[in-house]
Amino acid sequence: MLSKQEQKVAHRVEKVKEDILSSLSDLISYKTVTPAAGSKGDGRSGEYIKCQEYIESLLKEMGIDEIDKWNIDCAKLKAFPGSGVIPDRDLTDIPVLVGIFKGTGRGKSMILNGHYDVVSPGQLENWKYEPFKATVEVNKLFGRGAYDMKGGIASMIFALKCIQDSGFVLRGDVIIESVPDEELTSMGTLSCCQRGYRAQAALIPEPTELNPLIAMRGNLNGKITVFGRAGHGDMPQPHWREGGAVNAISKAVKILQALEELTEEWRTRPDKRHKYLPPDMVLPTLIHGGEWIIMYPEKCEIEFNSDFIPNTTNLKDEIEEKIKLVANGDSWMSNHPPRFETNPWLYGAEIDENDPIVKVVSEASEDVGHNPKIGGFASLTDAIHLINYAKTPTVTIGPSGGGIHEANEFVYIDSLISATKILALTLMRWCGYD
Ligand SMILES: [Zn+2]
Repeated sequence: MLSKQEQKVAHRVEKVKEDILSSLSDLISYKTVTPAAGSKGDGRSGEYIKCQEYIESLLKEMGIDEIDKWNIDCAKLKAFPGSGVIPDRDLTDIPVLVGIFKGTGRGKSMILNGHYDVVSPGQLENWKYEPFKATVEVNKLFGRGAYDMKGGIASMIFALKCIQDSGFVLRGDVIIESVPDEELTSMGTLSCCQRGYRAQAALIPEPTELNPLIAMRGNLNGKITVFGRAGHGDMPQPHWREGGAVNAISKAVKILQALEELTEEWRTRPDKRHKYLPPDMVLPTLIHGGEWIIMYPEKCEIEFNSDFIPNTTNLKDEIEEKIKLVANGDSWMSNHPPRFETNPWLYGAEIDENDPIVKVVSEASEDVGHNPKIGGFASLTDAIHLINYAKTPTVTIGPSGGGIHEANEFVYIDSLISATKILALTLMRWCGYD
């Protein structure tokens, strides 16, 4: 049930629908594509700076008390297992923006966090409309980032604006975080956490179809290199101990089978069970092997992606041990062990379903006419750092839409309006107001 004051704010959200869509369209117009792994960084385009300046201008119009803007020096971020820090990543001119609205006191604080980077639009010919020019078609607004998650950024700013414009002042502080690099490393939010920003709760309006998401899997990826020995592909070969050739691809098959066995084992293992999440898994995703069509392959590289529940503390060791076990059962591989390498990994995270913020968000979602289902996410959001590092209970909740990380991304306009109302109600109930 909405109070009279809450009704006033909810009406205000509906009244400014066109303004929300127009701000979202402005946000979409900035080409803030996450730089690819290993690339030099795309900050020189100036698009990230312009996007943050635009967000800053919206916050300034609302009378923000403090603005903090900085560039991430990745080499100076504190790295630790699970941090995902890539020290040599270049995020020059891809700034982080934090704005603080000071409450009147006596209220609980809240972080609203959104990433303004988007994934590449991919093949342009697959798009019905231009990806960086918002187009409205009945109840859908199309554009790269409409759903993931510039729509959410527009929602969080307007949630607060509608509270203000209805004549209410929040008691608790509200911290707005507009962060880059979520789509690859989550270092934008980690940087906010390391700079000391935390609150009594946080919301991330990523796409969740208005459902509170409270658990997510961590991620680890890497490469296994299997070695062979070159030899003429037409010639008979003696045993490898007598100098014969060894086929790296055939050896790699054993490793692939082992990875599959591991995922199969985890599927039913009690310690890999989670109420809201699928069990751990490791998935070979890229393979490169062989050098010449009439030659025994000398090398075969298997790249893999894996996800794991928050309780799993060391997936890396589990995978490595399995590979060792298989290698030890093979005379060639036990003498020429495969090389196992992993990239910096990201931990999973969860909060208790009985945490007070979960109740407040669920009720707000219900009060705007939705039937919220508390759930988990097989992948992860920036909540991992807010929960693990900043110790801030975080719920991810945002609108519905489609085309996430694909062509023709869109957000449902009515759902975006509902998400804005949910955020506004949650802020009022959590922070308190006068
Ligand atoms: Zn996202």
